[in-house]
Amino acid sequence: MIPLFKKYPGLQENLPYTSLCDLPTPLFKLARLGKQVGHNDFYIKQDGLTSKRYGGNKIRKLEFLLGEAIKNEYKRVVTYGFTGSNHATATAVHADFLGMQSISMLAAQENADYVRTNLLISKTANAEIHLYKTRKNRDFWNRMLLLGTRLLPGKSPYVIPSGGSSPLGITGFVNAAFELKTQMDAGLIPEPDAIYVAMGSAGTAVGLLIGIQLLGLKTKIIPVRVIETSFTSEERIRSAYEDTILFLHEIDPAIPLLNYNRDDFPVNDQYLGKGYAKFTAEGMAAITLLKETEGILLDGTYTGKAMAALLDDIKAGKMNGKVALFWNTLNAYDFQDQIKNMDYKTLPNKLHRYFETEVQKVTD
Ligand SMILES: *Cc1c(COP(=O)(O)O)cnc(C)c1O
Repeated sequence: MIPLFKKYPGLQENLPYTSLCDLPTPLFKLARLGKQVGHNDFYIKQDGLTSKRYGGNKIRKLEFLLGEAIKNEYKRVVTYGFTGSNHATATAVHADFLGMQSISMLAAQENADYVRTNLLISKTANAEIHLYKTRKNRDFWNRMLLLGTRLLPGKSPYVIPSGGSSPLGITGFVNAAFELKTQMDAGLIPEPDAIYVAMGSAGTAVGLLIGIQLLGLKTKIIPVRVIETSFTSEERIRSAYEDTILFLHEIDPAIPLLNYNRDDFPVNDQYLGKGYAKFTAEGMAAITLLKETEGILLDGTYTGKAMAALLDDIKAGKMNGKVALFWNTLNAYDFQDQIKNMDYKTLPNKLHRYFETEVQKVTD
């Protein structure tokens, strides 16, 4: 049983859930990296390994979201993201595994190798993919949502918001904090002083914060912004928090109605660079360092930027004497063998340009 349900049996009775993850994910010390940067208490939570079918942070949310889709006997799910969306790919793969068809409504983004990879993986999972021009705000998702439901006459699909960050999806990361506590109790890590995590739709960081508060831990969550405020605003973060806590409290009153306090969610917005999915020099340096010292792969859109923030805070002495935990949200499994012989021309025409134009360089 997942630790959140152990603590709150009322949630287990009333929340939809289908097991998709290999939990707990590994948590270990980054000894070589720690030595290199002169910080002893440097740990990683490897959510890259949530699932061999396709890992990363989104699978924790999908256990609840796709759980609800199954419970209500949906045959199709629709979700939203940018072209290389890890979330859309994760949804496609896991929906397919559960016998559901998925529809990905995608918005144009900067090109990169992982965009190609994710599109082809989605194709192997029989996803129906649509691409649209991006408008730089959240209204855009709402418009796509309308388009998505109109594309599907007859029975409506199960709708998963961008990033899977509805209260139900966010519950996956409330549980992740409880999972961390079981690993603390097992002696894998002392209580962390800070958890650094990339922040896109914010569900991951908000869920961790709620879990940490329910547990009464003193750990600080440091969300590192990787997307513009026009998509994930302060107001959006606050409502993600308040809606989730209300949702959980209504289901199990043993969960207190916690209040959102901005100081508990100190977003670091110094590492976004020129924008979402635009790689930065600091991010690239962090990727190289992790690869060389620990053999762990990070990416230029999310995890490289978050790691760059943590490394700089260590360098500046802000973490002296403190236990730092990096929450790795990036899928760690390699699917090159499955996609290497695929022809991108089997994808919708509008997507071909991602295979025909240059990609951003990832230094290695
Ligand atoms: C989606 C994603 C995130 C951000 O998670 P949110 O819950 O949307 O904030 C971080 N890292 C990776 C690799 C992701 O795919």
